[in-house]
This record gives sequence, structure tokens and C-alpha cells, in this order.
Amino acid sequence: MSSVEVRPALGLLPEEISSGVRPGGRHVFSRLQRVDQWEGGAPVLGARAAAAVAGLDWSLPKVCSMQPSDDGATKLGLELGDGRIVEAVHMPRDVRRPRVTLCVSSQVGCGMGCSFCATAAMGLVRNLSAHEIVGQVLRVVHDLGPKDDPRKITLVFMGMGEPLHNLGAVLRAIEVLCHDAGLGLAPSRITVSTSGLVPQIAELARARVRPQLAVSLNATTDEARARTMPVARRHGLAELVDALVAFPLRPHEKITLAYVLLRGENDGDDDAERLADIALRLPRAVVNVIPYNAFEGTAYAEADAERLAAFTRVLHGRGCLVTVRRSRGRDVSAACGQLAREGRTLPRGAARRLPIAPPR
Ligand code: SF4
Repeated sequence: MSSVEVRPALGLLPEEISSGVRPGGRHVFSRLQRVDQWEGGAPVLGARAAAAVAGLDWSLPKVCSMQPSDDGATKLGLELGDGRIVEAVHMPRDVRRPRVTLCVSSQVGCGMGCSFCATAAMGLVRNLSAHEIVGQVLRVVHDLGPKDDPRKITLVFMGMGEPLHNLGAVLRAIEVLCHDAGLGLAPSRITVSTSGLVPQIAELARARVRPQLAVSLNATTDEARARTMPVARRHGLAELVDALVAFPLRPHEKITLAYVLLRGENDGDDDAERLADIALRLPRAVVNVIPYNAFEGTAYAEADAERLAAFTRVLHGRGCLVTVRRSRGRDVSAACGQLAREGRTLPRGAARRLPIAPPR
């Protein structure tokens, strides 16, 4: 019995789609990506275009749940071809700045085992393909906008998964999403967040279409970091900071140091002082302090408002650039660290295991 291979189309560039017959790959690529021209919730190819790309699969994830938050954010559950579900969050900014931040997943679950994160309890189920990552973005932009001008989108890889653990697919998806025949997103409006995979940071630095980098730091000594983030046992802070110092930056670009503030764990003035030491070693950095988003069963708690203020005061006093992230979608568990479809939580301090490298 012969089987015909069906190639996933959404992770392909125009020149790879081209079948050598008219209409060309650029036309087909554009029809797939231009969500404002879709009909009935899916791309429409003319008869000749469809015939030219027979054997390509352009199926999209299905929306299996949509939970709007009181603050305007929406959490979506997206069902992939094998029935697995990932989550994405759509966050419109205020009306004066009609922009949307879209947070997407790079893996089903995550193998990094951070003890404060809901996704960690799932473990790593599998990587998403570039096709599935692009499909996730197209589905959400088509259903919730902005369809008219996708350049208003800020895309962040901060959903389920460690993007640098699936770097090949993530970079390919970014290349596709930035192509001018499609959505045409700006690489400077895309941020990839890592827990600190040092070799992959160097690989990211060499990417043809390079996004911005955020590092989820969350502690300021190797010992404290290893309590919550197993990756710290493999790559210590000195090695991580060296990699960040070496990371090339475009004019005005900054590396984001994300710091989830956990009450009694990493929220002391001494932590803030060491965090400032790290930030000030980098050529350009912004410290993003994130109030913890507690979820059912977590062993951690949010630092209170006074502690948060004191912590940021130390950073400001040292001359750091600081932002405090306004968490969106907390009431529907769509905020940072709350995305998970199944599973338990990890006990406090029990950063579970070192990551298992998935197939690339
Ligand atoms: S915080 Fe990020 S890297 Fe850590 S377990 Fe959660 S999803 Fe994975």
C-alpha cells in the first residue's frame, strides 16, 4: 500500500512552497498568512493554487476553549492535530494605543521543572512544529485580531514551554511570521523568553531573523536559583551572565531580566542588590519585576505591595531600568506561569529534574 506524504505548509517559506507551476509559492504563502482574506475561518486557495500545492497540509489548530478575562485579555485553548492542547493569550492594550500582545506556546508542557510554574507539572509532552506555532498565531489573529494590520502585534514566546528547548522550530516560525509576503511582523517586536539555556542563547544570537531576548532570572545566587529552577544546576549564573554580555544588541534594544517575586523566597533587599549587580553588568538591560500569579496548589505566594515597592526602590536607587509587569488574565489563569492543561504542582523548593533534551 502506498502512502502519500502530506507536508505541513505553515512552516514553509515562499520558495519552499513553490511547486514550479503557477501560481508561485509567494502567492500561496500570502493566501495562507493574510488572515484578513480568509473565508469561513480558513485560507482560501483558488483551484489552480490548490492544485499547485496538492500534498501540502495547511490545517490550523482548533479553538477548543476561549476564556475572556475582566481586564480584556483572552485565554485560548488550541487543539493540535493529535488532540493535544496548548494555550495562547491575547492581550489588547488600551484604546489609545491599538496594539495587541500575543503570548504563544512553543511546547506541549515543559521539561524545565521550575517549581513555581503551573506548566512544569505537566512535564514535557512534545515540541510544537514550526507549522503548529505559525498556525497558533494565525488562528488567534484571525479570530481576535488585529487582522487589518498585524504589525500592531507584539509576539512573546512566554506561554507553555521553554522556547530555546525547541529553538529550530521557534526560529523557523519567526522567519515565516516576519516574511513580508505574510504577516510581516517585526523581529524587534518578538521576544523569546528562556529560563537560561546558555548554549542556545549563543545559537539565538546567530539567528538569521533574530527576536529579542528575555531571561527568566528569578534568583540571584546559584543556590537560590537551583531551588526553583533546575536549569541553574546545569548553567550557573556566571556562565549565564557571560552569555548575556556577549549577546549582540540592535540600537535601543535591551535584554529583559524577568524576575518573578516570590514572598520570602527571593524578595529581600539583598536579592534586589544582587539583581542590580547583574543588570548593571549588561550593556543594556531592563529588569521586569513580575508579581507572582498564584494558582491552586502552589506552595508560593505573591509578595505584598510594600515589599514589591521596597524591592523596586532598591533597583531604582542603583540606577537600573525597571518595569513592573501588569499581569493580565489572572482571573482566568492566563497570567504568567499559570498556563497548564493538566497535572499537579511541584512542592516548594522541589525543582524537579534537569531538562531532557527533546528531539530537535
Ligand atoms: S517557567 Fe517557563 S521554563 Fe520554567 S517550567 Fe514554566 S514554562 Fe517551563
